[in-house]
Amino acid sequence: MSLFKEFKKTSRHLQRQQHHAHDADAPILRAENLSMRYESGSALENASFSLQEGERIAIVGPNGAGKSTLLKIIAGVQMPTEGEIQIYGQKPRGHICIAYLPQRSQVDWSFPVTVADVAMMGRIGKLGLFRNPKSHDWDVVHQALEVVKLGNFAKRQIDQLSGGQQQRMFIARALAQEAELMLMDEPMTGLDVTSQEDIFGILDELRTRDVTVLISLHDLKMASERFDRVMLLNKHLLAIGLAEEALSPEHLLAAYGGTLQLIPTAEGMLPIGDTTCCEGDYEHV
Ligand code: ADP
Ligand code: MG
Repeated sequence: MSLFKEFKKTSRHLQRQQHHAHDADAPILRAENLSMRYESGSALENASFSLQEGERIAIVGPNGAGKSTLLKIIAGVQMPTEGEIQIYGQKPRGHICIAYLPQRSQVDWSFPVTVADVAMMGRIGKLGLFRNPKSHDWDVVHQALEVVKLGNFAKRQIDQLSGGQQQRMFIARALAQEAELMLMDEPMTGLDVTSQEDIFGILDELRTRDVTVLISLHDLKMASERFDRVMLLNKHLLAIGLAEEALSPEHLLAAYGGTLQLIPTAEGMLPIGDTTCCEGDYEHV
């Protein structure tokens, strides 16, 4: 999707989201019987779960398991064929608290905007599409860029960023939006270990702000070690819970069948969810 299209879509979505109160007792997100059928077939079947405020959850499952579809449905970018999402007990369009960070490979990075412009897109829901940002909005944007350590990159064109910086820029946009729920589609894919650790550092900062984070991933080891709970998906929601329960051998077999690969490392057997060539960063044989 081009960045501009995504911007327009998000803007429309955020404009619809304004001025609705939260039900404080309800979970931040409740999904009931979500199903998604494309012409090509079913992508998600009857998924039901709840997320609690402030938790960090990993979504894992093989390629085509419906991870991106689920994130888009929660973001309101896509309507489910069946089922319902509630945010704090209400329909999601009643809220401004959700930020959706697309997979980097789906973004047109040649679109001529600066890092600060993209972060300012996060303010559109608060500003309205046609009002100019006020100095407070620029303050929020610059603070968000400082949090993700892109303070010195505000005027940089987005095509000049590294993969890790691109991801941090999207997090800044979500911070500028003052998001309470962040949905991140494969933010770690194609990043080196240092860039991944930078993102985890920011996620730790988000935890102190009680931001709930739902992230799709390929690395089962990372999911089991760095997240509060893990959701295992293969069209059906096979498990959600603590990693040792959700990623039991039975569940993994149900999700991956014979495609799960275990790589022996110094730390023991490292399960690789499934190999992916999404961004051309690596290939498998
Ligand atoms: P994942 O992110 O886990 O790899 P996706 O949600 O992208 O899975 O895709 C789930 C299934 O739905 C796949 O079979 C994919 O080909 C299909 N799919 C995803 N998006 C669309 C779409 N816009 N139109 C048709 N089929 C789609
Ligand atoms: Mg995906």
